Amino acid sequence: MTTEWNPRTALVHGGTRRSQYAETSEAIFLTQGFVYPDAETAEERFIGETEEEGFIYARYGNPTVRMFEDRIAQLEGAEAAFATASGMAAVHGALFCQLQAGDHIVSAKALFGSCLYIVETLLPRFGVEVTFVDGTDMDQWRAAVRDDTKLVFLEAMSNPTLEVIDIAAVADIAHAKGAQVVVDNVFATPIFQRSLALGADVVIYSATKHIDGQGRCLGGVVIGTEEFIRGPLEGFLKHTGGALSPFNAWVMLKGLETLDLRCRAQAETAEKLAQGVAGHAALQKVIFPGDPDHPQADVVKRQMSAGGTMLSLELKGGQAAAFRFLNALKIVLISNNLGDAKSLATHPSTTTHQRLTEEQRQELGISRGLVRLSVGLEDAGDLLADLQGALDAAL
Ligand SMILES: *Cc1c(COP(=O)(O)O)cnc(C)c1O
Repeated sequence: MTTEWNPRTALVHGGTRRSQYAETSEAIFLTQGFVYPDAETAEERFIGETEEEGFIYARYGNPTVRMFEDRIAQLEGAEAAFATASGMAAVHGALFCQLQAGDHIVSAKALFGSCLYIVETLLPRFGVEVTFVDGTDMDQWRAAVRDDTKLVFLEAMSNPTLEVIDIAAVADIAHAKGAQVVVDNVFATPIFQRSLALGADVVIYSATKHIDGQGRCLGGVVIGTEEFIRGPLEGFLKHTGGALSPFNAWVMLKGLETLDLRCRAQAETAEKLAQGVAGHAALQKVIFPGDPDHPQADVVKRQMSAGGTMLSLELKGGQAAAFRFLNALKIVLISNNLGDAKSLATHPSTTTHQRLTEEQRQELGISRGLVRLSVGLEDAGDLLADLQGALDAAL
C-alpha cells in the first residue's frame, strides 16, 4: 500500500486491484466462490500460505470487498480493515470477538439505540459486566476503568445531543489499565476525526451513513491493527456470517471517492445553518459541535478539523412545536437516517430513542423539543430558508 498519499488521493486510488482487463473503474466481483488451478493450491489457501492474493469464499473475503477494506484502512492510516454487512455487524463483531463471560467493560452511556442494546442487554446476558459513564466526564472514566477492564467503548460524537468525547484523554485512562479503546466514529466521520491517531485501538463505521452517502446500501467496517483484524475479528466474523456483499462493497468503494468532497460541503452548510437559525424565537438552543459555545468546544478544536455534518435544534414548544416544525419542512425530509446527500430531520424522543424511559432520555438531554438534523448536499440558502420557514410555523 502507498501510505504517503494524502486522503483525497487515497480515497480515489487506495486499494485498487485491477483484473486482467485493466478496467478504469473498480470491478464488481459478484462471486461467492473461487476456483483453484490444482488441489495443492486449494490446500495452501486453506492453510493461509497464499493469503495475499488468494480468496476462498466470499464470507471470508472477496476482491471488491478487499478493495473497500484497503481503501478505508489507507485513509485511516491503519494496518487493516474488515468490512461487514452493516454498522451493527461491525459493532457486534468488534465487541463479541474479544469478550467472554467474566470480562468487564466500560461504555459511554450516550449510544446509538442498537449499540445500547448490545452493550446494555446482550453483553450482560453472556456474563460480561458493563459499567456506564458520562463519556464527557473524565473523572467517571477514571473511577470506572479497573485493572481487569478489557475494553472501553464510546461514540466519539453522541446521537442526538452531539456531545464530543475526548478520545486522547479516555485512551490515556484506558491504556494505563491495559484496556482497549473501541470507538464508533460514525457521527464525526473519517474526514474530520482521526480516532486511531488520537489513541483509539479499534475504529468502527456504519458505512451506511456518510461512506455510501447517497442512502442506498447497508454496510460497516472495523479498522485496527493487522493482529486484531486478521486475528480475532476476522476469525469471529468469517464464521458468524456478517460479511459485506460485493455489490454493496462496490457502492461503498465509489462512495469513498467523493467522501471528502461531500463531507466538507455538508459540514460547511451545517455551520451556515447553525449560525443562520441561531436566535430564532422558536428555538431554545442550537447544538452544533463547530459552535465556539459548544460544551466541548475545546475538545472539538483539538480533535476534529470541522464541526461535522450534524446539528440538533431544541424547540421551545416541546413535542408539539417539534412536530409543527418537521411537518412544515419542504426540502428537508423526515427520516431517521443520516449522512445522506438529502437533508434529513428526525424527532429522537418519538423515533430513534422512543425505547428509552423518560428518565433515561432526560439524563441524556433528549427533550421532547429536540430535533436532529443531518445536513445534505442541497444549496445552503435553500436549506436555511426551509428551516426558517418551518421554525416560523413552529411558533
Ligand atoms: C447507524 C449507526 C450504527 C449502525 O449502523 P447500521 O449500518 O445501521 O447497522 C451504529 N452506530 C452509529 C453511531 C450509527 O449512526
